[in-house]
This record gives sequence, structure tokens and C-alpha cells, in this order.
Amino acid sequence: MIVESFSKTLQTWYLNNKRDLPWRNCTDPYKIWLSEVILQQTRVNQGLPYYIKFVEQYPTVQDLANAEEEAVLKLWQGLGYYSRARNLHAAAKMVLEKFDGVFPNTFANLIQLKGVGQYTASAIASFSNKEAVAVVDGNVYRVIARIFGIFTPINSTEGIKEFQALANTLLDNEMPDIHNQAIMEFGALQCTPKKPNCMYCPFSNECYAYQNAALDQLPEKIKKTKITTKHLNYMLVENNLEILISKRSGKGIWQHLYEFPLIESSKAITATTLGTKIQELFNLANIPSITLMHINEKAHKLSHQHLFASFWKISIPKKDFALLKENYIATSKNEIYKYPIPVLISNFLKLELL
Ligand code: SF4
Repeated sequence: MIVESFSKTLQTWYLNNKRDLPWRNCTDPYKIWLSEVILQQTRVNQGLPYYIKFVEQYPTVQDLANAEEEAVLKLWQGLGYYSRARNLHAAAKMVLEKFDGVFPNTFANLIQLKGVGQYTASAIASFSNKEAVAVVDGNVYRVIARIFGIFTPINSTEGIKEFQALANTLLDNEMPDIHNQAIMEFGALQCTPKKPNCMYCPFSNECYAYQNAALDQLPEKIKKTKITTKHLNYMLVENNLEILISKRSGKGIWQHLYEFPLIESSKAITATTLGTKIQELFNLANIPSITLMHINEKAHKLSHQHLFASFWKISIPKKDFALLKENYIATSKNEIYKYPIPVLISNFLKLELL
């Protein structure tokens, strides 16, 4: 019974409760894609100003593809998970090369774009083209698990298949766009992770979790891997008005962003230990003079890691500074703001300790 009536009930709720968001009532797959990528792992309130900035700065996929990656990262600054911005830029280039600059609107083509997975391809294809593909994001997992009492872990291979299959069954094939938006909005506003509004919920009579007092148990997840702690020791190496920075290479969260020379450690480090490490890193004749400028007392929390940052002022002779310029970029304190930098460094700069 509930399977048959599910979408109708959901859509009625949606019409009465949906938020007015700029990417709703929009069928442009490019803009829908921008909103979807920006909103991954980001709350609507935080993502909205970024969506507006991106649409203004890059009104078409051609504009985005032709931009410098650094400019895209700069506009993204503060949103975190920078691989999303790098993929956004790479995917825009792909649209030009592979799809003649026409942003795709079918699941089969969308899934080929860098950074676009099953969920995002389904969302764009259904919103822009009414293609009957069901979205399954965190909100959808929660809603389905609770209403239908499914205890299979949502992050297991079996769970992913089971939830997708049920989501496909529940989908309104005539109105997949409204249905998909409705189920996500329902999860975001009504069936929230904590304190869902069960009292005024149209599914309360049939909802397994509500009827069986199992709200806290659903959805079920396999426990995450252990969170590790890392200490980032940023070194502010200055000479007159110049300061050293470098571009972060290799894989990782801040790939291609700029930062001060860095020494990482698993524990907080003393000035003496750091001095020896700096001497080795910079190949200096003597241990440099070091002053601690600032410690971030609060951890910068990532899904698998908690980062603590300390900022150290390092004084080295002029001739050593000149040599280091071969491996680092010397910029001025005013110019540093023009580079895309991690929010952790940007917050430090706001303290005006430089
Ligand atoms: S009754 Fe509560 S738990 Fe069930 S769907 Fe409604 S809001 Fe979610």
C-alpha cells in the first residue's frame, strides 16, 4: 500500500513545504550540475552564495572551461573538498571536447563526466530532462530506511543495491523531476537526522521507525575507519616585504592550492625539534631562529582526519632566502590573497599577524 501511494503523498508534502531555491524550476543542465556539485557535503545556506558567484562569473559551460584552474579554485575557496572544484573545471573542458560544448542531459552521457557519479547524473537527468532515474543521496537513504524499516547498512555494497532498487520502485516515472526533488527536500526538512518532525509527518502512521521507536537506529551504517590527527606546522619565512609560499602537489584535499612551507607531524612539535627539521628541509648551515605566532586550538575536521595548525615565524639569512626562492614562490603579503589558499590559512591571515 505505502509503495503505491508513496510518491503521491510525498509530492503533496513537497508542494506545500518546498523552499524557493534558484536552481529549482530550472531545466538548464549546466546550472543544475553547478548546484549539485556545490551542494555535495555542503549545507544549502553555505552553498547558495557560491552558486550565485559561479553562475555570475561563469554563465556558460564554455566560460567555465576557458577559465584558469587557479581562478576556479579561488572562487571555490572556503567551500572545502577542493577536488570538487578541480573536477568541475575538468568536466567543463570535457563538455567542450566530447559533447561540442552542449551540456549533456541524459544519464548515460552525464555519468561520463569527471566527478559525476550515479547520484549527480540521476539528479541532473531527471531535473533537466525528466529522465526516469531515481536519486539516492544521504537524505533519500534516511527517509527510505526509516519508513520501510531497512536495516541493511547504507554504506555496504548490498545496501547500496537494495536502496537503489527500492528508490527505483518508488519513483514516479511521469514526474521523476518532482519526485526526486521532493524526496530529497523531505529528508532535508522533515525527516532530518536529529529530531525529525514525526508529529506532523504524512507517513507517521506507516513509518517503521516512528511506529517502532527506531529513529536512532536508522539508517544503519558500518562504522567508519579511525580518525587520525595531524599537526600542520606552517613556516612564515620572510625577507623585507617578501614571503615564501608553494603550490601543493600530489593527491590530497588541498591539491593545487597555495600554502606556506610546511612540516607535518603526528603530534604537537616543539620549536627545538622543528628547528632541526627546518634546517634539514631548507639545507641551512645553522638552526634558524623560530617564534610561534599562532596555534589553531580547534581542529579542522575532515571525515577521516583532524588537523591542527601552528604558524611559526622563521628568520633566516638573506642569502639563504635568495636560495630558497628557487624552490618556493616569493610573494608579497598583499599579493598572497590573490592565490587560492586553504581556509585554514585564510583564517590565519585574517588575524593580521603578518
Ligand atoms: S514519521 Fe518521522 S521518521 Fe518517519 S518519515 Fe516521518 S519524519 Fe521521518
